[in-house]
Amino acid sequence: MEFDLIAKHFTRATPGAVLGVGDDCALLAPTPDMQLAVSSDMLLEGHHFSPQDSPAGIGHKSLAVNLSDLAAMGATPRWATLSIALPTANDAWLTAFARGFFRMADLHGIELVGGDTTRGALTISITVMGEVPPGQALRRDGAQAGDDVWVSGVIGSAALALAYRQGRLFMEQVDAAKVLPALYLPTPRVTLGIALRGIASSAIDISDGLLADLGHILQRSHVGATLEFAALPTLPVVQTYLEHAVARDCVLAGGDDYELCFTAPVAKRDAVRAAAEVAGVAVTRIGQIHAAPGLTVRDADGQPLPFERTGYDHFAA
Ligand code: ADP
Ligand code: MG
Repeated sequence: MEFDLIAKHFTRATPGAVLGVGDDCALLAPTPDMQLAVSSDMLLEGHHFSPQDSPAGIGHKSLAVNLSDLAAMGATPRWATLSIALPTANDAWLTAFARGFFRMADLHGIELVGGDTTRGALTISITVMGEVPPGQALRRDGAQAGDDVWVSGVIGSAALALAYRQGRLFMEQVDAAKVLPALYLPTPRVTLGIALRGIASSAIDISDGLLADLGHILQRSHVGATLEFAALPTLPVVQTYLEHAVARDCVLAGGDDYELCFTAPVAKRDAVRAAAEVAGVAVTRIGQIHAAPGLTVRDADGQPLPFERTGYDHFAA
């Protein structure tokens, strides 16, 4: 049963591996002289998705959030393992989940080489492995005073969609339809991360909220930053809700964007724009790194904007 399930849904050709699914271990031959970048993310029903969500969407998102970590490191995706607990072996659900998962995998050239399958409350734990040339990984500890702070794409959409879904913000249905895809079908910025090797001084992906995640860079780099609220890139529809405190909070501290926040020297502005061009994603300069610790957000008049929280905390009361 379990083996049929694995054979049917999770076994694919893996030309990039010596041995894929089916033995006690996968066998991988990393490219000589490359470093392996490894990351795991766990998704739980009720926390990261709800039972009525589309299984294909869950497959997409669970791999996308893991690929986002490789993107934030500037690593080229290679292999993944998938550990999944399922309450029942629902064939239709698994077929759709695998479709979403492998579509995302094929887009980014990552191969599923193993995992574990067990009965239990729906839980998905994925480990991704990627490769990066020595010394070129985009770490959190490289931001320098004077660097620009950049962000890819637009932010706040996924958090706004969640606020709408949870009834914390009223949105017109046509407006909600414009932000909901960001919540269910995030795009990992893999190509951008790779293009920023040797250009960005630090990077992180925005999973818990812009301020919280930039805060990790600041802490690890022993620097501070000042951001311009008016510079933060959002969808036009998000702009129309910014009079609401909930919407401002979504932009500053909302999670689930999976955009990259990164720093780069001022002298690399053209190189950053060229990398963005290669990756086909917009990048926006949102502020500056400085030696003095602390994170300030300024409004259009240059006044500090108060904010209540910096991001999502899994252990908050
Ligand atoms: P073992 O008992 O040796 O751990 P398993 O029965 O758990 O073996 O798994 C058999 C094979 O199927 C292994 O190669 C394992 O990596 C793979 N596998 C199990 N579950 C999954 C899954 N959800 N996705 C991909 N591969 C899986
Ligand atoms: Mg096992």
